[in-house]
Amino acid sequence: MTFHSMWAELLPIGRSPASGGYRRFAWTGADRDCRAWFKEQAETRGLGYETDRNGNQWAWLGDPARGDAVVTGSHLDSVPDGGAFDGPLGVVSSFAALDELRARGAEPTRPLGIVNFGDEEGARFGLACVGSRLTAGQLTVADAHRLTDGDGITLPRAMEAAGHDPDTIGPDPERLARIGAFVELHVEQGRALDLSGDRVGIASAIWPHGRWRFDFAGEANHAGTTRLADRRDPMLAYAETVLAARREAELAGAVATFGKIAVEPNGVNAIPSLVRGWLDSRAAGQDRLDAVVTGVREAAEEYAAAHGVDLAVVRESFTPVVEFDHALRDELARILGKDRDPQLTVPVLGTGAGHDAGILSGSIPTAMLFVRNPTGVSHSPAEFAAEDDCVAGVLALADVLEGLACR
Ligand SMILES: [Zn+2]
Repeated sequence: MTFHSMWAELLPIGRSPASGGYRRFAWTGADRDCRAWFKEQAETRGLGYETDRNGNQWAWLGDPARGDAVVTGSHLDSVPDGGAFDGPLGVVSSFAALDELRARGAEPTRPLGIVNFGDEEGARFGLACVGSRLTAGQLTVADAHRLTDGDGITLPRAMEAAGHDPDTIGPDPERLARIGAFVELHVEQGRALDLSGDRVGIASAIWPHGRWRFDFAGEANHAGTTRLADRRDPMLAYAETVLAARREAELAGAVATFGKIAVEPNGVNAIPSLVRGWLDSRAAGQDRLDAVVTGVREAAEEYAAAHGVDLAVVRESFTPVVEFDHALRDELARILGKDRDPQLTVPVLGTGAGHDAGILSGSIPTAMLFVRNPTGVSHSPAEFAAEDDCVAGVLALADVLEGLACR
């Protein structure tokens, strides 16, 4: 099984003919097909295979009970109309790197694992990294039971329908205690490597990020008969707030996005009674993120008051900065740099995207490798990495696994 042939097998699964994007949502048919593919890859290679209590899949070379395992992997699910690379590149590269190690005749002295974390994108139940969060104890069983999809199906019922026993979900500290290092390879979601001219980079940190819901409540009325002066139109305050978010992000050197909106009553000839907008903001440091969110909130309050509209702001989620393990990061930099060529340095870069590796970094030493993405586009069918760069990623991951687990 080459990288190319594995990639070709996964390519049609969950792909929308209309958009060309992927709809591999947790515990759906496309997810089931991806999981079957993972299991087959494990079995074809004679690896030990298991699904853990939270629905994450594991393939093992060597007995994980020996402890101090080196694990690599990523996820196979997608955002709505996502690209082919976010997630699958890490999983396919993991199997390809293992094949490369075997071809080299490398003998692992530590157990080697490959993982497919379930429901990383949170496309169906609205919370990202559910599989790794549950395992790391960062999502309570009670909160997981409350997760519900757009059709009103709860996470436990969805798991059950897909053949996974939902009564088993919960923290899994024994499993994590057996892992000495986790390395996730991922397509870069930005252009840093393209700009620096490198195929592969090492992650330094995941930026702090969060989601805030802004509820602007006004008064519904007839769009034709209500004088402008008599209106309490929440859309106006919302629109000005969107512009404020852009301004504050530019000032702080951060990013801020209103990408989702709900309008009531949502009629073309009605002044809205409610506009609900979701702000996603991320920055390299907590102080910058605070500056953005405070600035947007103050602007929203001002605009709401000016239009006679009520405002409520709710923080729906927040993840503080995640610094990847410095010792492991330095080891990766040495393996991929000096060990290959005394003159070679590998770029170390931060990212505004969340990952399972970020969740696990609270429990075990964790690192990430990024593979160049020439346009930086991600979470879109246009997401791309050249096959040469993917192969460079596989070789880098193989060197890392050999350096960590075979010496
Ligand atoms: Zn991902």
